Amino acid sequence: MEGAPLRFVVVPRWYERRWVVPLLIVLGCAAIAAGLIQRQRRRVRHLREHNIELDRLVHARTQDLERVNLRLQDLADRDGLTGIANRRRFDGFLEECLQRVPVRGRPLGLAMADVDHFKAYNDGHGHQAGDELLRRVARLLADGVRGDTLVARYGGEEFAIVAPDCDLPTMREVAERLRTQVETAALGVTISIGICACDPASPESADALLARADAALYRAKEEGRNRVV
Ligand code: GH3
Ligand code: MG
Ligand code: MG
Repeated sequence: MEGAPLRFVVVPRWYERRWVVPLLIVLGCAAIAAGLIQRQRRRVRHLREHNIELDRLVHARTQDLERVNLRLQDLADRDGLTGIANRRRFDGFLEECLQRVPVRGRPLGLAMADVDHFKAYNDGHGHQAGDELLRRVARLLADGVRGDTLVARYGGEEFAIVAPDCDLPTMREVAERLRTQVETAALGVTISIGICACDPASPESADALLARADAALYRAKEEGRNRVV
């Protein structure tokens, strides 16, 4: 006797189902994408940190350069022996001040100071003592003027003083004060000073002004030294 046919359904295991392979592919792709994104993020973060470090380095180097530039500028403008402004700085400063005279309508004072009988001092005390004396005179002069006034070593034992906003009577007061300070400091020398002033109504060139101060200094020497003319 034949029995009734058995009906059965074959249920595949879960991993044998049709959707499993596509699902695994999708999950695999998603995992790979997530990994790539993660790696890219790490790279961007690393680059950002690198950039910040580079910015910091560039900033630090720029500041170093600015400091070195200032130092070089300072060295270029300073007299090696006395430490005050040198001739180069004096020329530039005088030119700047002269250009401002007609613009601001204020006078400009100029003085040329020269150590009296400095050759004799050198001969008597030696050149090293002469150098030290020049340093002391330079310090006295530079410390004896206002902040806007420039005292420079013009050359040898000559010093130049450029005083903005300073007319002739005021320049005379300044010069007389400096001359007295050197005399009373008992350094063993005196100074003679020739002064002049540039009037805003009749502007002058640096050369013309210097020639007038020089002529005044020459007269101070002729009239007996240790004086302001
Ligand atoms: P006067 O009163 O007419 O100015 O006479 P003086 O002797 O000061 O002038 P003179 O021009 O005859 O001599 C200047 C001297 O300054 C000669 C030079 O050897 C000296 N001198 C110039 N520069 C320096 C320096 O840097 N150091 C020293 N020790 N002496 C210097
Ligand atoms: Mg001289
Ligand atoms: Mg002299």
